[in-house]
Amino acid sequence: RAVLERIRAVDGKVEAYITVAEDLAMARAAAADEAIKAGTASPLTGIPLSVKDLMCTKGLKTTCASKILENFVPPYDATVVEKLNAAGAVIVGKVNMDEFAMGSSTENSAAQITRNPWNPDHIPGGSSGGSAAAVAADMCLGSLGSDTGGSIRQPASHCGVVGMKPTYGRVSRFGLVAFASSLDQIGPLTKNVPDCAMLMNTIAGYDPRDSTSVPKDVPDYTAALEKDIRGLKIGLPREYYETKGLAPEVETAVRNAVKTLEEMGAECVEVSLPRTEYAVAVYYVIAPCEASSNLARYDGVRYGFRDKEKDALMEMYRSTRSQGFGPEVQRRIILGTYALSAGYYDAYYGKASQVRTLIMEDFKKAFESCDVIVSPVAPTPAFRIGENTDDPLTMYLSDIFTISANLAGIPGISVPCGFSGDGLPIGLQIMGKHFDEETLLRVAGNFE
Ligand code: GLN
Repeated sequence: RAVLERIRAVDGKVEAYITVAEDLAMARAAAADEAIKAGTASPLTGIPLSVKDLMCTKGLKTTCASKILENFVPPYDATVVEKLNAAGAVIVGKVNMDEFAMGSSTENSAAQITRNPWNPDHIPGGSSGGSAAAVAADMCLGSLGSDTGGSIRQPASHCGVVGMKPTYGRVSRFGLVAFASSLDQIGPLTKNVPDCAMLMNTIAGYDPRDSTSVPKDVPDYTAALEKDIRGLKIGLPREYYETKGLAPEVETAVRNAVKTLEEMGAECVEVSLPRTEYAVAVYYVIAPCEASSNLARYDGVRYGFRDKEKDALMEMYRSTRSQGFGPEVQRRIILGTYALSAGYYDAYYGKASQVRTLIMEDFKKAFESCDVIVSPVAPTPAFRIGENTDDPLTMYLSDIFTISANLAGIPGISVPCGFSGDGLPIGLQIMGKHFDEETLLRVAGNFE
């Protein structure tokens, strides 16, 4: 009730929610009351959470912040939603995002512009900007986002909350509307690290309905927070700290955080990720290629919006997709179909996949001399709304520190580490070995 009240009070200014599921939430809250009375409550019983609007929720609109799905009501729940419900959590609504998760600012939403709760003239980050803003503004206690190239970690960093992208395959993608299937991963955005661990305990694990989900036991992530970090080796990637465009205040906040970790007994070593300079280019070939293929299903026949004025099939397709998809989504589809065209596949998608393997090898090599890698999340604090909308390339380059983890499939977490001169939050990124979320949470938890 308090959360619903808070939404009514502040969401007019933040605009984080696309759909508030008041009746459903109240019914689930009543069920939670019963469970508490009966003594059958679990840690998430009655906890109000939000879900990014690209995870399917049975009977509840799932729009992907796109006109093409504006009235789409899924007939089933995503596995993560099923798991939250089974744990007794209360999903209060669906939150804003960049259309189909394509973007870094939540400005590419067909629904609304979400504002950074710390300063409404600034973006909340993206694409899970609604999740980060809702958590930061107390309009839920936690949220699920998705991260294809930084979309959980970067908005978490910009809104001063914790956000984790788990290892690829750790959390089921069943019921997550696909953007780039080999990169997408669902994860939590929360107020602190223990909450993140608690949500991970609930959503992680093998799912036979997702062929890339990995059959591995799920550890108790909460227990991982009990250990200190003495003797842990922290890798500092030289190339990250030499990146042009890294704002001095971000660098200072991150270097201070590293000092704190050292004072807690961790040991720092310099590592090298020599192919960092190719990561953005590789990502912006692979992600649009996969997106162009995944988005082919929105043809006006099977899902959502359709231009009913057009009778001829090709004309109906063209008109439906031209009106239904926003400019960034169209840009990615064009990039992807071009790069996948006959004769170009080897030169673009094939080549990018080869370089992706080299980037993976860079991490493998770096992790021979350290347990975790620590870096900035984004080169600058949250920029102003509208500042980069006409400049997609600048927007793409701001993903430099986050997209490599998706290309390599490794986990990464963002934890608040300071503020800019203007009072905007700055995050610290901690990346780890495949399936070693425990160490990330341990470092983040000790630091916090
Ligand atoms: N900013 C990146 C993009 O636009 C990453 C988005 C994401 O992680 N979903 O593709």
